[in-house]
Amino acid sequence: MSYKLNKKLADLVPYDPITGTYKIRLDANESCFNLSDSLKEKICRSISEVSFNRYPDCLAEKPVKAFSQLYGVSPELVTAGNGSDELISIITGCFFESGDTIVDVSNDFSMYGFYAQLYELKVATYQKEADLTISPEKLIEFCRSSNAKGLIFSNPCNPTSLGLDRASVRKIIEELPDCLVILDEAYMDFWDQSLLGEIDNYDNLIILKTCSKAIGMAAVRFGFAVANKVITTAMRAAKSPYNNDSVAQAIVSDILAEKEYLNKCREVIIANTRSLYGSITALNEKYKAFDEVYKPCTNFVYIKTDKFQDIYEFMLENSIAIRKFNGYLRVTAGTEAENAEFMAVLEKYLSR
Ligand SMILES: *Cc1c(COP(=O)(O)O)cnc(C)c1O
Repeated sequence: MSYKLNKKLADLVPYDPITGTYKIRLDANESCFNLSDSLKEKICRSISEVSFNRYPDCLAEKPVKAFSQLYGVSPELVTAGNGSDELISIITGCFFESGDTIVDVSNDFSMYGFYAQLYELKVATYQKEADLTISPEKLIEFCRSSNAKGLIFSNPCNPTSLGLDRASVRKIIEELPDCLVILDEAYMDFWDQSLLGEIDNYDNLIILKTCSKAIGMAAVRFGFAVANKVITTAMRAAKSPYNNDSVAQAIVSDILAEKEYLNKCREVIIANTRSLYGSITALNEKYKAFDEVYKPCTNFVYIKTDKFQDIYEFMLENSIAIRKFNGYLRVTAGTEAENAEFMAVLEKYLSR
């Protein structure tokens, strides 16, 4: 006899993002802005005040308060997590029972199905329309016929960059009263159809937010779950007590308090995404290279092309990292200079 991994672990491989050093990183939807020197000094001062011998604040009250003020929600309805990733793990692990069915959609963020399977849930995947949009009626019907206990999707969607308007999302939540809807608004800072302000109207809704994208703090690992009081109490009880360390709490509190700075970053990122989309569209008119360039509600552009592998490799050879999917490319908006360099290399490829 020897020890054997169980079936669900036996074929798992560690997450494998693009590694190596590339001059331009447009592969992970991060903010193109690193912190200014003055903000770095501000967080250094806060870190120096941390009691390193003490456990952190379990409920991360300071960052939760800063988040609440920035987004206009009550701090009583907010749970902090070690990245949204941890929150997705807690939710799929604790709000369902093994064998329950949870619905995800395709294409969408791959972590939903990953955690659901790890926690022995059945995953039923709803296929989007050919144009990558979601039909609310079909999705509702799919959830009903799968007897779904949960539905999880990102809005706007990673990777498609497309958004579902507020009225459609409301309809989905309202017509599935027995189903817990987990709405990942990681990219909603770049669009205007958030349901955060309506969170208290629903007893079957959790909205996820992250500090890794518009807030520009992917290095720090911080996300938030927003839900009504009953769900929030359960979330806080189910998470590991000290999930957010004191250093991260100090840093995130400082940055979330910088409303003006964050708004400015957000506006520039939105503008850079629009101009990247415009440039790619214009180039496509000239070379007719892509099947589709989707109009983004996010900080990245999604492209349908059968040349995805070739272009991906050509970019890497030119020290530019982008993300490829089967049949598609995803390009995060960078700074103006980064986008210009990406466009120059793309034109070089297309004009060969
Ligand atoms: C990037 C991303 C997140 C962020 O996850 P963190 O763990 O907070 O970094 C969450 N959801 C989606 C859809 C994303 O693309």
